[in-house]
Amino acid sequence: MSKLTLAEEAGRRRTFAIIAHPDAGKTTLTEHILLAGGAIRAAGAVRARGENRRTQSDWMKIEKERGISVSASVMTFEHTTSDGVAKMFNLLDTPGHEDFSEDTYRTLTAADCAIMVLDAAKGIEPQTLKLFEVCRLRDIPIITFINKLDREAQDPMALLDEIASRLQLDPAPIWWPAESGNRLRGMVEMGTGKFQPYAKKPAGSKEDVPHPAALPLADAAQYFEAGEHEALMETQELIEAGYPTFNRQSFLEGHMTPVLWGSALRHFGIDELLAAIGEWAPPPKVMPARKEAPPETRNAPAPVEIEVEPGHAEVTGFVFKVQANMDPNHRDRIAMFRMASGSFKRGMKLKVQNTGKSLSVNAPIMFFASDRELAEDAYAGDVIGIPNHGVLRVGDSLSESGLIRFAGLPNFAPEILQRVRVKDPLKAKHLKKALEGLAEEGVTQLFRPELGSDFIVGAVGQLQFEVMADRLGEEYNLDVIFEPSPYAEARWIAPTADGTKADLDDFAGKYRPQMAVDIDQAPVFLAKSSWETGYVSERFPKIAFTKTKERG
Ligand code: GDP
Repeated sequence: MSKLTLAEEAGRRRTFAIIAHPDAGKTTLTEHILLAGGAIRAAGAVRARGENRRTQSDWMKIEKERGISVSASVMTFEHTTSDGVAKMFNLLDTPGHEDFSEDTYRTLTAADCAIMVLDAAKGIEPQTLKLFEVCRLRDIPIITFINKLDREAQDPMALLDEIASRLQLDPAPIWWPAESGNRLRGMVEMGTGKFQPYAKKPAGSKEDVPHPAALPLADAAQYFEAGEHEALMETQELIEAGYPTFNRQSFLEGHMTPVLWGSALRHFGIDELLAAIGEWAPPPKVMPARKEAPPETRNAPAPVEIEVEPGHAEVTGFVFKVQANMDPNHRDRIAMFRMASGSFKRGMKLKVQNTGKSLSVNAPIMFFASDRELAEDAYAGDVIGIPNHGVLRVGDSLSESGLIRFAGLPNFAPEILQRVRVKDPLKAKHLKKALEGLAEEGVTQLFRPELGSDFIVGAVGQLQFEVMADRLGEEYNLDVIFEPSPYAEARWIAPTADGTKADLDDFAGKYRPQMAVDIDQAPVFLAKSSWETGYVSERFPKIAFTKTKERG
């Protein structure tokens, strides 16, 4: 039993994600953060964990062949920061490839803070920008880590200028690098003048050498070559005068980003980054929600807008991801549940808001770096895996009362729509189940046209189809063919404020061959071109054609 109050338990949690353009070093940084946090002992463990999973399913082969990561998961570790408080860190792993952005967006809904990793030679890249925009939309504060200082980098000031001008974010340098690449000497802390020397890996050696202990810059002459030491002292003064000092409030409000530097590969600047996360990243926040009876409850009171405090006694939270078949021998399905409040105990009964279904959570899983363990208790900010057989879906809200509903897990209109067929017609029924399973997990979207027996599968990127075909083969033993479909766009439809159900029925009647339903039986219009979408939206002003649908 914890001796801390609920609010204190929540207050010592840091739930964060790393966002980066592919190749900026997210995987390497994840690993080195886990090392710095004492969660793993040797570099290579994250990859090894990946390898291990890869042997389990062909899906993971794609990860290996393409060198990308497609599955998001969470890693939990406890680490005592310099303030003496033992904190629980929940690191959410987001896939980097742009075809999986939907998954990433959903994962970010469960994060309270993001670490934005930039490659020091490249600065802001397209995917960095996209992910940043999602964080801004969700008011997620951002800590910037500029990686790969051990290689030739851009001018640090130019990098900060780019952050300021392209992201409209005030960069507050916490450290300042002394050169980069072969000439990297270390970095100096703004305000304190503390110098952290960098130890180059000796030529021909496989082992990294530990970086020397930090010391006042004034005493660090031995780490520099002629002229460099004085130059850095001057730069420090210049930078301190020229950039704002870090202001936590401004960071939490999304106006400012603290900027740290380092090399994930050389484990340089990582302890400093972890300390910054522990010290500055926000604890679980108050979340807006609605108190609302499940649909179709008789005499249900009107829904009330509420704010859920992390220290609130009732267990509440939402499912932001479902991972199926982590172990293909057991058709397991694990819902990743982010807690917003309460004190969870193993064996507890929770109810799903939108279905009213109740489930006993007897085998919740905590994901540690090297192991999975049964979660005996959990608090706001924690992510637990709940094994289930399809009861839980992405976007579901769970709570003890069953009356709390969190909104805002979007489904995005797919950009590619294909028809899917199974080669062996006897397996058509099997295909339906498999497609529904993958759609529930959020791998792809599934549309069932009102006429005919085809399925239309939608995805944001081509790679999603490859993952899907692979998983259908490996996990469901189905050999499928994707064919072009006549459709270019899918739009969810509903009457506008001055429209009625009759308007909707009228439209659906006129466009019957292009009407479909999604996995939740919500009506969808399949347009043959974006021109057609424009045309029907003009002709039917009482119908809203929307590109996103909020689940849950
Ligand atoms: P991700 O795609 O963002 O997950 O990037 P990875 O962590 O897989 O890194 C991409 C490549 O950059 C790999 O070859 C890493 O070894 C390399 N890398 C990552 N961090 C550093 C670093 O700090 N310095 C150098 N030189 N290479 C790095």
